[in-house]
Formats: sequence, C-alpha cells, structure tokens
Amino acid sequence: MAQLTLKDIGKIYVSDGNVAVGIRGVNLSFDRGEFVAITGKSGSGKSTLLNVISGMDSYEEGELYIEGQPTSHYLESDLEEYREKYISFIFQDYNIIESFTVLQNVELALMHIEDKNERRKRAVELIDRVGLSSHMKHKGSKLSGGQKQRTVIARSLAKDSPIILADEPTGNLDSATSKEILKLLYEVSHDKLVIVVTHNFEQVEEYATRHIRIFDGAVEFDHTLKAPEIISGYSEDTRKDKENSKKTKKSWVKNGLALGRAIFTAKPKLSLFLCLLMLIGTMGIFFVAALSGEATAELNPSYMFNHIDGRVVLTKQSGEIITDDELAKLVTDLGAESFLHYDQLLDESMNQQVIIPSADSEYADAFLMAHSTYGKSYGDKVIGRYPESKDEVLLYLPISYQPELGKESLKVSNIIIGRTVYKLVGVKYYYDNNIDPECLFTDEGFRFATAVHFLVGYSDMRFKISLKSEGDEPEKIFNAHTMIPSFDMPADKIYVGLTSYNMSVNNNIASGTEYTAEASFVANYYRYNYINGITRYYSFERDFKNDEITNVLPEFNGYELLLPSEAIIISDEIICEIAENVLKNSYVQASIFFKDDNAAKKAVSALQDRGYIAVVSDTTYEVGSDDAMSSLLGCVLMIAAFIAAVVFLAFFITLCSSRALEAFREDIAIMRSMGIQVKVIRIGMYVRMLLSLIPAFIIVAITAILIFTSPKFNEYFTYLYAWQYAVIIIGMVALTLKTTHNQIRRLFGKSVKKSLRGGDV
Ligand code: ADP
Ligand code: MG
Repeated sequence: MAQLTLKDIGKIYVSDGNVAVGIRGVNLSFDRGEFVAITGKSGSGKSTLLNVISGMDSYEEGELYIEGQPTSHYLESDLEEYREKYISFIFQDYNIIESFTVLQNVELALMHIEDKNERRKRAVELIDRVGLSSHMKHKGSKLSGGQKQRTVIARSLAKDSPIILADEPTGNLDSATSKEILKLLYEVSHDKLVIVVTHNFEQVEEYATRHIRIFDGAVEFDHTLKAPEIISGYSEDTRKDKENSKKTKKSWVKNGLALGRAIFTAKPKLSLFLCLLMLIGTMGIFFVAALSGEATAELNPSYMFNHIDGRVVLTKQSGEIITDDELAKLVTDLGAESFLHYDQLLDESMNQQVIIPSADSEYADAFLMAHSTYGKSYGDKVIGRYPESKDEVLLYLPISYQPELGKESLKVSNIIIGRTVYKLVGVKYYYDNNIDPECLFTDEGFRFATAVHFLVGYSDMRFKISLKSEGDEPEKIFNAHTMIPSFDMPADKIYVGLTSYNMSVNNNIASGTEYTAEASFVANYYRYNYINGITRYYSFERDFKNDEITNVLPEFNGYELLLPSEAIIISDEIICEIAENVLKNSYVQASIFFKDDNAAKKAVSALQDRGYIAVVSDTTYEVGSDDAMSSLLGCVLMIAAFIAAVVFLAFFITLCSSRALEAFREDIAIMRSMGIQVKVIRIGMYVRMLLSLIPAFIIVAITAILIFTSPKFNEYFTYLYAWQYAVIIIGMVALTLKTTHNQIRRLFGKSVKKSLRGGDV
C-alpha cells in the first residue's frame, strides 16, 4: 500500500472575490524510500501541493489517503496528530525559531524523549551530524542561511518522521551551499519519503528517484528515474517513543513547562518588559486591594459607641442624672467589674488631637488622632512603662512613629493632648496601620482628660478678666477664649498667658507681676445622647473674685504652638472642679464593664428591669437618611472605583499578553508545522506568562515584609491582611490565565499556513 495517495485533489483560493486555482485534478502516489523532485514555474502550484500533503492547508476536491485511509473528514486536531506522526517540513525561508539556540531548536523536536539527558545527548549527536557542533549555543537569528537550513534538517532528523517535505529548501542559498544541503538531505533520508520542490532540477538530479513537473496546477509529467533504495526501515523505536509520550499526561505538562521556560528566556528583553508591565499591574491591584479595605469599612454598620468587650452603656428611662452610688450598687448587684461614670471620652477621637513635639525642637513633628482609654493593657511590648499618675500617658500607635518616639527608650518626654501637656511615660507600637491610635491614661488622668475635653469641645467658654495691681493703676480688662490646662499650676491662681504677638495687651501688663483680678467664666454645655436621643443643655458660671492672677509668658516650648493671642492657664484642680460640677448636673450616661460581651448582654435585660435603657457597646444605630445617602454614595463610588481599576487592569494585562504572544505568533506556527501538540504549546504560553508574574510577586512579598518590619514603609503603605494578599495573587493569576486563554484562542484559530511567514503568498 502506498504511503500517500492523492486522488483528484483540487484546491482553489478565493480572496477579495478573485478565484485562483492552486492545484487541480492531481493524482499521485508516494512511497517510502522515494526521493521525489517536483519542478514547475513559479505559481504553478508546487507549494500548494506540499501544503495539502502536509496537512497544513485544506483541499476542496478529491481525497488524500494516508496509509490507505481517507482524510477529507479530518479535524484540525487529527491533522495535527498526522503532522506530528508523519511530517517534517523544510521551508525556503528556514522557519527555525530565531530566538532559540540551535540546540533548543533541535530539542524542541525531541520532546517525545522523556529523559532530559537522553534528549540532550540525541540533540548533540544530530547537530554534530549536520556539522553545526560549533554553533550549538548560537541563536537562530545569528546563523547564516545554510546553517539555518542545517538546523532545520537536524530538527527533522530529530523528529525522525517518515515523510520529509522540502519547499525550495535551497531557494535562498548560493549554489555551493545548496549542494551541501541537498547532499545532507539525501544522506539522512534513505529510508524516508522525501519530496523536494525546486526550480533547479540539476541540483537534485543526482539523488532523485522520480521527477514530477507541475504546470498550471496540474501534473504535466511524472517520470520514474530509478528504483528507491531502502537501507533501513522507519525507526520503530521512535514511533513507540511518540505513542507512549502522547499517552502520559505528565509528559505533555512537563514538556509544556520546559517550553514555557525556554520561551521565557529566549527573548530576555521582551520578558523583562513583560515582567515590568506585570509589576505595574500587580501594584495596581495592590492599591486597589488597599482601597477595597476602605470600601468595606464604608460598608460597615455604624456603631453607637466605641466597642470595648464587656461594656454596657446605660441611661435612665426617666432621663434623670445617674449617681456614683447607684453605679457602684449596680456593679455589685450585677456582678460587673467596674464602672465609668463620665464615659464620653471613650467614644471620641476627633477632638483628641495628640501633638508630639520633636525631641530637639520646640515645633511639633507629629499629630495624630487617637481614642482614649484607661486602665486597659495591650499585648505588645512597652517602651517605657504604664502611666501611674494623672499627668502621665502611654501612646499605642503605628510603628511609623518609632523613629520619632524611640525604639529602645523614649526620645520624647512631653506630648500635648487637648491643649494639656502630659508626660509621655510609655509607648507601644503596632503594625496594622488600619487601627486607630489610642492614649492610655490612669483612671484619674482619664477623668481629667474628660473634663478638659468636654470644656474645650462641648462648651462655649468665655473668660472675662479685669486686672488690678497695687496702687492706683487703671483696670486692664480683656477677654480670653482659650483655656490651657496645666498640672504645674497652683490651685488658687490663674495665669494669663499672652504670646509675644499681642503687643497692646502686653504693654499694659508687666510680666511676672501679680495682679488682683476679677475673673468670671461661663460654660454653656450641650450634648446629644445616642441612647435616648435627647440633647441636654447646661449653663454654668464661675467667678474667680479673690484669686490672684499672674501674667506669665509660658516657657514651655510646646505652649507656643497652642497659644492664640490670649489664653488663661488653669490648674487641673480648678478644671476638674468646674467640669465635675457641670457633669454632675447634666451628664445622664455611664458605662459598666463586665467580664465580656456575653456577660454584658445578659446584664442588659436586668438593667432594663431596673428602669434603665442599656445597650452593649457594639450596638449599631440607624443612620439618618442624609447620612445613609452619603455613605451609600461613598460606597457606590468606592465600588465603582474598584470595578474601574479591575477593568483597567484586565485591559492592561490583555494588552501586555497580546503583545507578548504576538511576538511568538510565527514561532508558534513553526512549532505547529513541526507537529508539536497544541496543548504543549498552550501550556508553554501559560507558563511563560505566569513566569513573568514572579518578579511582581516577589516585590509584593518584599513590600509586605517591609510593611511588617520597616516603620518608614508602614507609614506610606496600607497594611493588608492575608486575605487581601490572597486576592492580589489569585486575582493576578486568574487575570493572566484568562487573557492568555483569549489570546491563545485567537492565535490558534487560524490555520498553520496562514500564520506562517509568507503564508498569504
Ligand atoms: P508555486 O509554489 O508553484 O510558486 P503556489 O502553490 O504558491 O505556486 O501557487 C499556486 C497558485 O495559487 C498561484 O496562482 C497563486 O497565486 C495561488 N495562491 C497561492 N496561495 C494563495 C493564497 N493564499 N491566496 C490566493 N491565491 C493563492
Ligand atoms: Mg512556492
């Protein structure tokens, strides 16, 4: 049975409405051992004939029989298998992979050999056989035409396929090189069917067993010149190798991986560029992930209070003031741990602006918003110690403050919270920069901070001061709107603080002189209560008739920052006295602390039975319709930004991957013409794209580690949680796979011939 039989084969080309005949009515039979020369004028259909025989192009009429089997019903995958098993193709313009070395080009055709060393050995042998040993490590692009064609011959030898088709293999070579190549082809192919298309019959005359001439798409003549000589049979070993390799899934995955690596390293500049683009893409997702953290924060329910485990907030159903005695009784009755009567500060952070003067200058280096808490400890390492008196404070804050505040010991001794200078005795750092900083006071310090906070934040304060020194000096009257609390002041004096800017007042008041003064203070207090929805007002007046007032220009460096033109500096005792007076008469809320939230929840109904309205501190409140709208709008905007970023990234990566794959369009076609399985090429492409993600992932990992270890990094990058990193990595891999998948579909959609160089001619 003939190896190949063409029966009435016809192929027409239709392009732009023009119909061209490729070949028509071709009846030919080919057998093993033949060396067939096909000649004919340009455009007569020689290439078309070879393309049909190789299964790289379709035909419209007749039937091609392979080992007696008809093939007109073949799908692309069947043709692929046919090419893999039977065909080696040698083109006029070489079709080696230019970015691969000679060795890589040949090894590509040896994929059916599982063992890497064995494969390498075979490739080296074959390269030696075509006389290219010295060029083994040279890239295809660096070879001469003859060397390229030798590589191609080595490659077809490597494949050891029974049919070698050569379309003007020497068309681009000088006559001496042409001779060598044809001789080589003859030497290596005794046992195979070789069909050589040439316009120069003399060159092959010496070897040809048969001469076919094509004219105008049809066979003009078909002469047998001599009997084919078969020296050895088609290597059965190779065929078995191939059959086996195709059956094991592992081997094509392995081959795909190897191919991917080879493709990745073959074009280093392109790969580098791709890595860079992937890095940009990944960093993009990184920032989107950081943004998504804020978006989910926007989606979080609104809490009435700052949640502390075990905290119950209560007010009386009657709206009356609660007393300390009552609270103490509740604590014993309900088995609670403690109570905090004036708990307002626990829920505030806006007004607790903390100013940290730098260690060596009078100007502040850092401002932060902090929650306040008291008597509560955290797990992290303390630099310094916990506060022990009312004027001491510990800061719990992000690691980015470490350079400022000290790593082993504290560099800063005073900080300012709510215009009060506190001694900073301890610091704890944390890495999760999504968390708010906190100020930790002693119970007494917390009480004082509350007093200051409420006087500054919730009261309309006015100090009217008239000064009278001894003798007959006139009265000097001025108003101060600012109160500066101080731990260093005597309790029976009020200092007038004047900055050097205010000359008119300064000129009339001698520094360091004591005046007798008449000062009055008015505080109008108002506060909304979340539980009962009532706003309380309270007015309070306090006269300092007989107190002595001293005019001082405060020396402490931080004060300069705090002072408007006039202020009065008041001792903590006086402030507490005023604040407690007001709070006692107007504050209707308190907190009781239980072991944990479970205990707290159980206590709520008991409290309700006793005439209180009580809630656990993680209770949410209904936001007003305006607030709901704006938070919904914020949320929608966030989500829109998120989607836009993802869409942009998908687009971006598609662009990158399509460019990157496009550069291999021709090489892929060559691989396909060599009969390399499409799935192997596919895996190679995926692997190559995934490899380009690795530098980006390494940089993300480094960033993550730096955020976790370096105070400077922690300041500028959002701390992400493990799940967010998972989103980044899985997201990028998925996007890459998806876009590569689409690109590959486009690349493989076309027939091999159309994707090949000069395929449209
Ligand atoms: P040869 O290889 O002998 O020079 P070809 O087989 O390339 O000839 O071409 C045979 C005929 O088919 C020519 O008339 C050519 O114009 C036409 N042809 C070949 N390829 C195409 C194509 N892709 N589209 C349209 N016409 C084609
Ligand atoms: Mg041609």
